[in-house]
Amino acid sequence: MPKYPTLSIEALLEHDIPALHSKAGYELVSYAYQVAEHAHEGQKRTSGEPYVQHCLAVSNLLADLGLDAPTLAAGLMHDVLEDTGYTRAQMEKEFGKEVLGLVEGVTKLGQFDHLESQAIRSYDERELESLRKMFLAMVDDPRVILIKLADRLHNMRTLGVLPDDRRQRIAQETLELFAPLANRLGIWQIKWELEDLGFRYQYPEKYKEIARLIDERRPDREEYINRVILNLQERLRMEGINAEISGRPKHIYSIWKKMERKGSFEQVYDVRALRVLVETVAQCYAALGIVHSMWRPIKGEFDDYIANPKDNLYQSLHTAVVADEGKTLEVQIRTREMHESAELGIAAHWRYKEGGKRDPKYEEKITWLRSLMDWRHDVGDAREFVDSLRSDVFQDRVYVFTPKGKLVDMSTGSTPIDFAYHIHTDIGDRCRGARVNGALVSLDYQLQTGDRVEIITAKRGGPSRDWLNPNLGYVKTQRARTKIKQWFKKQDREQNIAQGREVVERELRRLSLDTMSHDSVAKLFSFDKVDDFFEKIGAGDISSQAIVSKVIEADRKANPPLEETVPMVPVSRPEVQGLVVRGTGGMLTQLAKCCKPVPGDPIVGFVTRGRGVTIHHANCVNILNSSESERLIEVSWGTSQRTYPVTVKISAYDRDGLLRDVATVVAGENVSMSSVHVTTNKNIATFVATLEIAGTAQLSKLMDRIERLPNVIEVKRQLS
Ligand code: MN
Repeated sequence: MPKYPTLSIEALLEHDIPALHSKAGYELVSYAYQVAEHAHEGQKRTSGEPYVQHCLAVSNLLADLGLDAPTLAAGLMHDVLEDTGYTRAQMEKEFGKEVLGLVEGVTKLGQFDHLESQAIRSYDERELESLRKMFLAMVDDPRVILIKLADRLHNMRTLGVLPDDRRQRIAQETLELFAPLANRLGIWQIKWELEDLGFRYQYPEKYKEIARLIDERRPDREEYINRVILNLQERLRMEGINAEISGRPKHIYSIWKKMERKGSFEQVYDVRALRVLVETVAQCYAALGIVHSMWRPIKGEFDDYIANPKDNLYQSLHTAVVADEGKTLEVQIRTREMHESAELGIAAHWRYKEGGKRDPKYEEKITWLRSLMDWRHDVGDAREFVDSLRSDVFQDRVYVFTPKGKLVDMSTGSTPIDFAYHIHTDIGDRCRGARVNGALVSLDYQLQTGDRVEIITAKRGGPSRDWLNPNLGYVKTQRARTKIKQWFKKQDREQNIAQGREVVERELRRLSLDTMSHDSVAKLFSFDKVDDFFEKIGAGDISSQAIVSKVIEADRKANPPLEETVPMVPVSRPEVQGLVVRGTGGMLTQLAKCCKPVPGDPIVGFVTRGRGVTIHHANCVNILNSSESERLIEVSWGTSQRTYPVTVKISAYDRDGLLRDVATVVAGENVSMSSVHVTTNKNIATFVATLEIAGTAQLSKLMDRIERLPNVIEVKRQLS
């Protein structure tokens, strides 16, 4: 039952819009059609029509809004990436980044097509508003929303072929999400039709009833309206106003809304309405005066949206009068320009861009667009405006879904564990894994806006102590942290002690300090009884990281390593304080008095008898003339950031890419690896790596990170 005529690319290209006036635009759109037709070949809509009809319909709607060529092309190809073999790479190559960006944007919004009605139905107004914001937050370019709205509108037009439950769900989502967005963007043309179609499928009985009542009186009403129009036209002409007057069809959804507000059926459905378009604002008010002089205005029905535009910048005069035969007549009066803005909304912005012609009201429109999107910062030009629509405002929040489609709003950086604790403490405690959009993710995954998160739980058991280790990034929210700590507090003292002891033993072993007594470690934290100390660790109040750094600090005091006994001291000249020379093997260093090298000079070290190493300029005559060349060593200027070489031993079940992964983790912590030695025995690989470490905290964090790599068995510091 194709209610709408078969569409063709030829008809699309016949639109008289700037986008298609240029050769480049025309060809872009033509080629996009070829790609879409080819990619969707053999695919059919539920209605039985070839799929490409949907693509043409969407692009036609966009052409009706006067949009630019990239948008029309993207409209034709909006389902290509998701549903066909045509790849992103191909699209980028053939159409460029702009078109690809638009199509990808639409594809990303596809998850809104799968929201469950149950969820939407349970949303309160605040949640719905979050949902709309989230929708906007996911979009980099407002044209993406226009394509999505056109897509939804065509889907709504062809909704009749779907089973009833799906119709209901889609209709509801349309009324709650898409129509308000069209309204917010000021696109009346799309808004009214989405509303009428949404209403029709959500409340079929009411829709039919209103439609029938409107229809019954139609001939009578139309004849009446025609008479009124002639009458008014004549009066306006006498006053020198050339107006375009039309009967304005009332939309069924708006009648229903009004009925709900006013409570009376009779008063509303038989409303007669006119629209008067004139040239200037002054003529708007003049025409209003004439209307009010011809018929009696109804009190409380006059609105001046010219002086006080609506939030979406809608401008018009609204009034209602008691017209001929005592019938109520609603009249809207506006300029043609206001009318175009009202019909096209945000889309009007692109209408004049093509062909280099600038919209005369450009600045005003930018301001308007900004207020539409509730935007805050200054924008200079259109490019920047598009950039600014990226969602800084929402940057500190992410909006994600439960498996049932309920919207949860979390702080940025939240993980599946945070999410699990947000849903319920018990879910958090038993969380063992997570799926995001159907795929398994690690528990330190950072949730992204639009993610659908499903927590995998164990039947029994509690959280992992690792979750409290800030280095590992498992938990971002304070709420989850508190809950995890509470869980551990509730555990038996005995169990906490046992776990605490295990932690201390493990860390000492890792540091090769197993000879250190547990009592002395407890003393470092001012505990007299070692069990109390263990219990605190077991309860999560003392982190393993804290233990490691205190122990290393204590060990460093007791047994200072070589590089500390003979530090690479800053040399005595005050102007080079803080600079370090490397390559001296930790020996005392001084700058030569003869040539006085400064940082950046090529230098060479001379090993003196008993006074460490003297640093000379490489071209110093004393060096060039020296007969003791065996005493010369290679040195270089170090950086002022002081680091210590630390040797770490990593054991792992060997696998491809392991060294690369270790190197990536090390580099990720901004640490340089000055040497690495790998040996393999059976399938155990041992890496002995020398790392330039700035401090114990960094070392502990790095060891934790390496130990979490797949296949790694153990990471130990070597103190030899
Ligand atoms: Mn589509």
